[in-house]
Amino acid sequence: LHEEFRQFEIEVGQIVEEMRAFTKEGEIATYIPELRRADAGALACALYTKNGTCVSFGDKDRVFTLQSVSKVVALALAVMDSGEAQVFDKVGMEPTGGPFYSITRLELTRHSKPLNPMINAGALTVTSMIGGRTETEKVERLLRFIRELTGNDTVTYDSAVAESELETADHNRALGFLLKGEGVIGSDIEPLLDVYTKQCALSMRCCDLARIGFIFGHEGRSPKTGEQIVPVPVARMVKTFMVTCGMYNESGELAIKAGIPAKSGVSGAILGSVPDGMGIGIYSPALNEKGNSRAGVELLKRLSRHFSLSIF
Ligand code: GLU
Repeated sequence: LHEEFRQFEIEVGQIVEEMRAFTKEGEIATYIPELRRADAGALACALYTKNGTCVSFGDKDRVFTLQSVSKVVALALAVMDSGEAQVFDKVGMEPTGGPFYSITRLELTRHSKPLNPMINAGALTVTSMIGGRTETEKVERLLRFIRELTGNDTVTYDSAVAESELETADHNRALGFLLKGEGVIGSDIEPLLDVYTKQCALSMRCCDLARIGFIFGHEGRSPKTGEQIVPVPVARMVKTFMVTCGMYNESGELAIKAGIPAKSGVSGAILGSVPDGMGIGIYSPALNEKGNSRAGVELLKRLSRHFSLSIF
């Protein structure tokens, strides 16, 4: 078995290095000024496996922010804190086929709601439903949860990235006010943006990310103790959103070509969750035209083909 695992490690290591060439074809996101500092050639990959260990490859010690990957974490937390009924009274469950900053249909009807929790309009609404009386309490709640998921007490948010986003967050600010005007969001927008940008700036290494993927893949259970960190129905719901709208408007194609529930962010992070299999954490900041990590997407497809990981 030991030999088998070594062989597995060698194969993944080779695949990761083969995929590195794709980093040259992508571009770093620049609309959040602080993200410009990323190294475009970086590629890191971690796999959290059933025996409770994480194996990582490439630039595995890079620390990166989650950006939109945090939307799945916030969704699980909001549903745990406010209940499924209340969350989905305010946010829909349908993919948009549009980009993350989409304002699709928000403007068309009164009493409309964001189409899903993975676009920014939906994510802002979801973040407003994380438990806590004050913004500080909500951030504390998020930190406690992310530390439980990663099993790493040092995980925190990158304040330079959070501040940099807050200063330039006018599109999200506008979405927030629109949603408040429609009665979808009940709280004040500026403090909400503060929580949201800190949520997006949660930062970690690829092994931390892979452990999150593992937990969602294993019905919400902690890998070592088996403790239920996320309720089973919530873990399933999160994975389903990852399949239908986790990879922006490339979700449909990747459901076919990789078939792994996954969520990406503009930082170049990708969280993958193979049900009853393994957790995947990828980081490579050069993005394709859909806003997904260029090398990351290729890697996800290759891993899926090589190890038959598609859930379909
Ligand atoms: N913090 C970013 C935003 O809200 C996240 C976008 C993303 O990763 O898709 O604009």
